[in-house]
Formats: sequence, structure tokens, C-alpha cells
Amino acid sequence: MKRAAYGIDLGTTNSCIARFTGAGALTVIPIDGGPTVPSVVAFDGREWLCGRRAANHAMLEPHNAVRSIKRHMGEEHYRVRLGGEELSPVQVSAKILAYLKAQAEAAIGEAIREVVITVPAWFNEPQRRATVAAGEMAGLTVTRIINEPTAAALAYRADGAREEAEERWLVYDLGGGTFDCSILAVSGTCKEVLASCGNTFLGGDDFDHRIVLHLVDGIRDRDGIDPSADPLAMARLRHLAEQAKIRLSTEVEAPIHDHFEIGGRHLDLVTALTRGAFNALIEDYLESTLAKARQALEEARITAANIERVLLVGGSTRIPKVQERVAQALGIEPEAYVDVDLSVALGAGAQSALDAGLSFAQVVVDIAPHALGVAALGDEDERSAAALVARGLFDEDGPAEGAWDHHPLTFVPIIRKNTRLPARFVEEFYTSIDEQGVIEVAVYQGESRNTRDNVHVGAFFVPLPPMPAGSPVQIGFEYDRNGLIQVSVSEKGGALKRYTMDLNRSAAGNSEPALRRRPLTVDEGSEDGDGSADEAAGVLNFLIERVERRLAEGPEEAHPEVHELLASYRQQLAAGDDERLDGLEEALYAWLDASGEEEERLSAV
Ligand code: AMP
Repeated sequence: MKRAAYGIDLGTTNSCIARFTGAGALTVIPIDGGPTVPSVVAFDGREWLCGRRAANHAMLEPHNAVRSIKRHMGEEHYRVRLGGEELSPVQVSAKILAYLKAQAEAAIGEAIREVVITVPAWFNEPQRRATVAAGEMAGLTVTRIINEPTAAALAYRADGAREEAEERWLVYDLGGGTFDCSILAVSGTCKEVLASCGNTFLGGDDFDHRIVLHLVDGIRDRDGIDPSADPLAMARLRHLAEQAKIRLSTEVEAPIHDHFEIGGRHLDLVTALTRGAFNALIEDYLESTLAKARQALEEARITAANIERVLLVGGSTRIPKVQERVAQALGIEPEAYVDVDLSVALGAGAQSALDAGLSFAQVVVDIAPHALGVAALGDEDERSAAALVARGLFDEDGPAEGAWDHHPLTFVPIIRKNTRLPARFVEEFYTSIDEQGVIEVAVYQGESRNTRDNVHVGAFFVPLPPMPAGSPVQIGFEYDRNGLIQVSVSEKGGALKRYTMDLNRSAAGNSEPALRRRPLTVDEGSEDGDGSADEAAGVLNFLIERVERRLAEGPEEAHPEVHELLASYRQQLAAGDDERLDGLEEALYAWLDASGEEEERLSAV
């Protein structure tokens, strides 16, 4: 029996780990004498440093330190050179997580294995997979990835929300590297995300950078020295800029004094930054966050007047101008009674406790932040499948070498942005040539009609029996709360082929997420393919869970036939009668679809 559960906020600037104990206490574990540690990794010539020691070392040897690595999560080819090694963002993040794990274990005298890790709501699948891979590399089992603003909302009490009265909350999360805005419907203990918008390249780091540019301009004008080519001077200026920014949250003017040696010349920097000047430097950034907040309101189909509470999350919301602009734009005083640096980790700890069965205090429903779909020949394409065949990219045996680089341009969403998770949708496509032989299911994520502007998540090929052009093929996506995608492909009259595409798992020890351009596990009929039994059971239980949830929405005695179906399904699950299971599964899905699930059918190739 578990006694504790853990949640980690792996931040751009700082990271934090929270612990929920069976006794009901939710606290942050202090590390290095503080609640949060800098997300910095350094190498001092002898050993790896993390946290505060690494941040200090970064001031002396900036070229031997890495900060804000989160900004590169999911970039397949990005590497930093450190300690004589080429490290991927996953490897650097793994060092931060391993440090948090080891230090927290030393502090509490208990082994930490299973954790919930948070990510910006706006993170795409490759970024989420990279986060899971980093956790696994650090020796952790990542039981769930949750969105930072959703986690923060979990750390807040819903006291205003009575059972029957639903409240709307807006979470404004501005940290060191990312901005997220989520709208939630809160009713009693249930928190449901309605919409999320954000920018994974906007935060306190950018504000520091603006101050640095401002200081560099001043130095050039006043002293005729250009510090921008000197990494040591730039690291020092960045530190001074951040300190001045933080000071301006409580004072109206921040003095900036330091002594530099740049290219053999001495420089005495004696200047000051006023709050007014700083506000002007970051004004456009703040306006862009408010534009995202308006977009989130629009997507949630409400206006600012419908918002009951605005919660501030992330270190950069301490900036008075941020609070002022948020209050002005939304017409409501924002609140931050849970520490803006800790609420995300505390919420991750709360989620971990819910998952471990240590707490039943809340229910959370989250959404898919981006649309997920496939590439298909359509409006956006100048090419046709016949042209691909003519160019030797497809033949009856499957794809030719290099065909991967030639996905069609048209993106057909199957699961739309802001869809509640878990979700299941099916689209109908058509083969484009006679005897096509194979179709490529290329999965993309994003909002653009053109796949080139979206993120390529993965792809696989499905062999087809001989069919004339225009034969229908159905592609279904099932997306669970953990980002596990089950893709089913079926052709009329043919056996259903099921392909599992686990976007969150990576092979243990691998430096990068495992999903690549390789065929996915094939599950014909009821075979599991190479997917584990657990995985299959997870998908099946997911179906039961959804049916139960849908049944619970109506009166208790409604749909006796579905209750019966569900009972037989459970029985057959125990008995392992695959043929009957298939039929029952189809019937349950049909009922789910008929009872309100939106199914869209678009025609494409
Ligand atoms: P987080 O990612 O939530 O840890 O936020 C870190 C960011 O918050 C960094 O850019 C910090 O410089 C910034 N920050 C922390 N405290 C303050 C403060 N008092 N005023 C302004 N920015 C702050």
C-alpha cells in the first residue's frame, strides 16, 4: 500500500517537487534550502552540477552551463555541448529530474519512483514525449503528464463553487519561459478545462533579454564598448537584468552597478532601470498574453464577464504591471493565495494522490490543446497519389525510400482542439488509385490546414487488399487522458486492424522518444501485437470508464440494455472470449456514438 504520492513541476527557470502523504498533507519538499531549485545543469571540469550550484557556476563559466533547456524540449536534433558530451534536451532535463529525485529522497528518507510531471498546456506531443523520456531516464516512472494551469487549479480550493453553481476560472500562467492561459468550469469538486491557449516561447527569460538589450545599447552609446560578443559579460548582464526586474516588483527604481572587463577594457556600469521603463520594454509581450487570454475565452464560448475568478500562476505574475493589465483586461482582481511558484507542483502532487487512490477530493477533466489528425490528399495538394506513384514513391509493395518526406499537404483533423479527453473520433477517407496496396497514416498535430505548418507526430503504413479507387477507409483515433493514442484503420468488408501509437512512452534508456517513422504495432482482431497486456487492458478499461461516465449523466434506471451490454462485456473480458468481446465493443462504441458523441466524416483521400 502506497503511503505517499509525488508531483514535479519541471520548469524553464525553476523546478519543484511536491509530496502528498496518506495523512492528507500536501507539501513542497525543500531542496538546497529552498522550495524550488534553478533548472540549471553545469559541468565544473570534474563533476556535474545541478540546481543552485550549477546556477552559481553558470556565472563563472557560462559556456559550461545550460539553462532554460525546456525551451528546446521535443527538438529532435538540438544538442548542447557540455562536459565533453553532446547532450539532448531530454538528457539535460533528465539530469535536473535525477537531481530533484536524489535530493528529495535524501530529505524525506524515502524512495521516489512514480511521479506526475507537469508541462505547459500548449506543449505538443513531441514535447510531452520528451518530458516522459526525461523522467524515465532519471529513473522515474511517469504515471501521468498534466498541464501546468490545470495542476495549478487543482491546488486552489473551490470554496465559492457550491454543488449546483458552476464557476468559471481563468488561470493566467506566466513563468520563466512559457505562457499558458486555461479556462475551467468548476462545480463542487469537479474541475473541467474548457479551453487552453498559450505560447511556449514567452516568459520572464524574454523580459530579462529585453533588459539586457537595453543595457547593451546604453553601454555602446555611453562607453563605445560592445559587450555582446563576450559570453561572460553577457551572462553577468543577464543576471543583473533579472535581479533588477525582480527588484522592480517591489520598488519603482532598480540601481544596476557592476564592474566589467571586456576585451581588455575596464567598464564601470552605473545605471538604473525605472519601473516605467521596464513596463515599456515588456508592453508588447503583455499584450500578446492578453490576446491569448481573449482567444481562450472565445474558444470556451464565454466572455470576461462570465469569469468568477482569475488565478495567477508563475514567477512573472509578481510583476505589478502584469497584475494591473490582467485586472484591467478582464475586469476582475486576480488572486494568488497559493504561492505562484509552488501551485503547479502542489497540483501535480494532488493529481498524483488522486491517481494513487490516496485522495478522492477532486475530479479533473482536461482537453486536447491541439488538433490531432492525419495528412490526406485534398485542397492543399498540388500532387495526387497517382503522381506519387509515378515518381516511384509508392508501389504495390508499399512506400519507396524517401516517401516519408512526401506526406500530402492537407491536414484533416480527427480530434479537434479543446476536445475533452478521453475522446474517440472516426473519419472516412478514400483510396485514390486502383489497387492502391497501401495507405500511409501520417499523424500531425496543430491548427493549420497545411501539414507543413503542423508538428509531425509519427506515421505508419497500412497494407490494403486490392480495391478500386475511391474505396472507403475509416481511420479512428482514441485519445486517452495520458496522451495514449490508439489508431484504428478499417476498410469496408475487411477485418478491423488496430494500431497502437503510444505517444508518451519511450524505450527505457533511450536518449530520445521511441516513436519514429516505423510501423506501429499491429493488432489484428484481438491479438495484442507487440503491445503489452497492460496496454490492451488500459484501452479496454478506458471503454468501460467512458460508458459508465455517459450512463452516469442520465437517470440511474435509463438504458438498461447498455447496463446489460456492459455486464456481458466485463464477463467476456474475464473469460477472454475475443470474438464476443469484439462484438460487444462495437455495440458499446455504437451506443456512445449515438448518445451524443460528435462524429464527423470528411472526405479526403
Ligand atoms: P517560474 O517559471 O514560474 O519559476 O518563473 C520564473 C520566472 O519568474 C523567472 O523569469 C523569474 O525571473 C521570474 N520572477 C520570479 N520572481 C519574480 C519577481 N518577484 N518579479 C518579477 N519576476 C519574477
